[in-house]
Amino acid sequence: MNTALNAARRARELVEATDGRVADLLVVGLGVTGAGVALDAASRGLDVVAIDAHDLAFGTSRWSSKLAHGGLRYLASGQVGIAHESAVERGILMTRTAPHLVRAMPWVVPHFAGGSRRDRAATFAGFLAGDALRAAARTPRAVLPRPRRLGRTETLAFASGVQDHGLTGAALGWDGQLVDDARLVVAIARTAAGHGARVLTRVRAVSATGDGARVRDELTGSEHDIPARAVVNATGVWADSLAPDIRLRPSRGTHLVVRSAALGSMNCIVNAPVPGHFGRFVFSLPQLDGTTYIGLTDEPAAPPVPDVPQSSEQEVALLLDTINTALRRPLSRADVIGTYAGLRPLLSAEGSTADLSRKHAVLTGSSGMITVVGGKLTTYRRMAQDAVDAAVRRSSLTAGPCVTAKTALVGADPAGPVNGELPDRLVRRYGAEAAEVLSADPARNLPIGDTVPTTPAELDFALSHEGALDVDDLLDRRTRVGLVPADRALAEPVAAEALSAVRSEG
Ligand SMILES: Cc1cc2nc3c(=O)[nH]c(=O)nc-3n(C[C@H](O)[C@H](O)[C@H](O)COP(=O)(O)OP(=O)(O)OC[C@H]3O[C@@H](n4cnc5c(N)ncnc54)[C@H](O)[C@@H]3O)c2cc1C
Repeated sequence: MNTALNAARRARELVEATDGRVADLLVVGLGVTGAGVALDAASRGLDVVAIDAHDLAFGTSRWSSKLAHGGLRYLASGQVGIAHESAVERGILMTRTAPHLVRAMPWVVPHFAGGSRRDRAATFAGFLAGDALRAAARTPRAVLPRPRRLGRTETLAFASGVQDHGLTGAALGWDGQLVDDARLVVAIARTAAGHGARVLTRVRAVSATGDGARVRDELTGSEHDIPARAVVNATGVWADSLAPDIRLRPSRGTHLVVRSAALGSMNCIVNAPVPGHFGRFVFSLPQLDGTTYIGLTDEPAAPPVPDVPQSSEQEVALLLDTINTALRRPLSRADVIGTYAGLRPLLSAEGSTADLSRKHAVLTGSSGMITVVGGKLTTYRRMAQDAVDAAVRRSSLTAGPCVTAKTALVGADPAGPVNGELPDRLVRRYGAEAAEVLSADPARNLPIGDTVPTTPAELDFALSHEGALDVDDLLDRRTRVGLVPADRALAEPVAAEALSAVRSEG
């Protein structure tokens, strides 16, 4: 099972994919959804080609809050089915398919003197309902602990940076946090490649039908046909450019990036209610690399869909103002060292984008092409299963049953825990592959800089095993150094050097 993706494999498999043979399934788009479809189909024994115009996780999948949700938010809006599905998929990720990439994260909602008793009770009732969802999804309590109320002292032990003036205590719940969303996509795509899928980045579908696509190799400009018995369009917010009968109404969500030290010690997610919007919160999300994300907004995004969405200064101000209501030391604009924004691929309907259903849809167009859109990162596996079922039915493909609920992703070691000698950071990012990432040259295992814990050895591994083809892939997708422009500038020469070393070997 060869799960390594790299430039040499891409070149070889692009020739195979475009030599006129008819694939069982062509997947367009390699965000979490398309990568999931490729894995689902390849692990059922289908011959799969999967392409992305840019890179793995180039689109919305790298701009998420990086949470494996238990579906509480859907429960609050009465969408019980989606809430249950989300809790089940979170459990699968945390216990079977990607326990190395998804950890339990405490979630703290502080209470202040003078605050509404009703809100306090509603918050705790919400956490209890989330725990009931966990139980219904059969996720063990050892994986996601019981919610409880915290006193003032305990609240400050979890989150010393919380505003202590008037603090009376907090509600504590738990949810799943991804070490990185783009890493999940890379792990899924590599697992698909291990099952024989041809995973090709920098290959754009110029047009597509139910029988194949006209594609352009974005590295050379050459055009080819990829014929296939079935085609799945998993291009997210770009889905309507290949399937004009689909109507999307993207909504933008923005996060801020700050150094965690600016918040004080916060070993948990902290919520602050958005004034005037019952049930809407801004939260701070601590990350492994010493940064914290603060999100998130929900703004209608006018067309056209850009390659990389940009946040507005109004969103930055709203996020800062709201989170500051919960902090002892308010953050200023100067504390914001980066921002990122993503577009939710929501299907068009009446109402505000905040009210649109987050449920996914599998739609077959007039040409027979199947589009899978909507949903969440957390529910990608279920979306993929539904899309492949539709493709198998439509094209009478000979395929086995779906096995992805039990298919461990690359790095999820079914044989047990990894060597305790390895650096925690590598184990948390690479799981069972951590030892392979370590370089024989000790200098390549040192952090790139004080604020950049990424090592040159990680960049080497991204080039040899994770399909990175250029500096942007290295800094913006395989690692997330690029979320902080100053850190990116520091790491760019190191990435360029790693790339040129690989190119001169090849
Ligand atoms: C701000 C924000 C926060 C979120 N937070 C969470 C969260 O915490 N948890 C959660 O579960 N969900 C979250 N979501 C939802 C989740 O991120 C998305 O539902 C999911 O990532 C969508 O993935 P996708 O694969 O469908 O689309 P994308 O990731 O956008 O992938 C589409 C891919 O198609 C490619 N493509 C486009 N056109 C072509 C073409 N013509 N040819 C070839 N390739 C093409 C693109 O390059 C891209 O890589 C969040 C969403 C947003 C916007």
